[in-house]
Amino acid sequence: MSKFTEKIAAFTERHPTLYRCVVTGENVFKKAIFGCQDCGQCVLSYNAFVCCMRCPKQMRNGPCGGTRPDGHCEVYPNRHCIWWLINKRAKWMRRQAKLRKYHVPVDRRLEHTSAWMNMFAGRILPIDLSRELHEVELPKREPPPKR
Ligand code: SF4
Ligand code: SF4
Repeated sequence: MSKFTEKIAAFTERHPTLYRCVVTGENVFKKAIFGCQDCGQCVLSYNAFVCCMRCPKQMRNGPCGGTRPDGHCEVYPNRHCIWWLINKRAKWMRRQAKLRKYHVPVDRRLEHTSAWMNMFAGRILPIDLSRELHEVELPKREPPPKR
């Protein structure tokens, strides 16, 4: 994002207790509001603020193709398909352009790390509140130290 945010991330990652506090705070907030699954590489702002990792197949670039005609999930017929919900919300929020973004496969090394710090460090896409799609080039960065 910027040299300043990179410094904040580096400082936080050097201090395990501080880092754990950030991860816990982030989890409490995002689990309660978005049902966050702790992937560490947040794409909420691209998916109309619906967490795509709640999909049982963890599809990050659209539905699996098995969505039932009534919009329910093929794996859990009692739940709506997450991508059905994302599309519905994106239409309501007029954020459909954002859905055109292709997301790289999940980097499992980032699971259970702080997506906020990963964003500050420039490892993952920044939160983008605009409705238009902007391409962002991400440099290759190592994951944070293992805890
Ligand atoms: S995309 Fe990842 S970090 Fe963001 S809310 Fe979903 S699981 Fe959590
Ligand atoms: S139907 Fe939707 S929620 Fe269910 S597995 Fe397929 S993409 Fe995921």
